[in-house]
Amino acid sequence: MIIVFTYAHPDDAEFLAGGSLAKWVEDGHDVYAICATNGDLGTRDKFITSQNLANMRKNELKEAMKVFGANEPIFLNFPDGLIQKHPDELKEQLVYWFRKLKPNRIVTLDPWKTYEPHPDHISIGKIASEAAVFSCFPLLYPDHLKEGLEPHQPKEIWFMTPMEHKPNRLVDISKTFNKKIEAILCHRSQVEMLADLFVEGADPTHLSDEIKKKLREGLESLLNMVAQAQGSLSNGKIEMAEAFYALKVGAGHFNNEQEIIKEMIGFPLEEPEIH
Ligand SMILES: [Zn+2]
Repeated sequence: MIIVFTYAHPDDAEFLAGGSLAKWVEDGHDVYAICATNGDLGTRDKFITSQNLANMRKNELKEAMKVFGANEPIFLNFPDGLIQKHPDELKEQLVYWFRKLKPNRIVTLDPWKTYEPHPDHISIGKIASEAAVFSCFPLLYPDHLKEGLEPHQPKEIWFMTPMEHKPNRLVDISKTFNKKIEAILCHRSQVEMLADLFVEGADPTHLSDEIKKKLREGLESLLNMVAQAQGSLSNGKIEMAEAFYALKVGAGHFNNEQEIIKEMIGFPLEEPEIH
């Protein structure tokens, strides 16, 4: 299966779904990451330039994807914090990449979380969903077809950390949790910003080895708790999980009449499927 993660900032997927990403690569799926920005706002260091930060963060994501064994990441280079100003260009780019990579599954951020304060997370989730629905229509962006691409319909959109829906997919990350941590630690510029959460008074711009060790332990223990909490949604079947809300898209995605009726009456709650 071809799985495409589409998100806003270089570390989004690792924090929210890194265990699943690792598992899918290990299971033999072809996994890609499309990062809409290069994360050039993500610092508290007043002396770094945007360009240096962007280069640093791109390298961090490349390194993380190597830890997973996934494909080299694709950067769309929209300005960090301002995706909402470029909806049409982003949609065109995502339709282009969906037609090129032909994913079966798109994984993105949940744009319908009520208390999501980051506009990039809302924008990417909405636009990635739109692109997944529209990439099958040949009259949309016909220039793509002139370049030799074909219309393509992804079958499912999986929203990471769904807060407003009961998750309907749980991925067992017990065996890939360590890889998730390794990949997150590649994002040094971001992890170090979290230092004072775990070590009181730590200055994120000057961290000793001892503080870095405490930071790693704190992060590991926090993410362990999150994974166990999500795992508990399986009623004891799995210990550590990442939860998703999966939405089937495209004409003909129903297996039977009951599924059509279920969608038309408003997505009633279902038991989560375990992957
Ligand atoms: Zn983000």
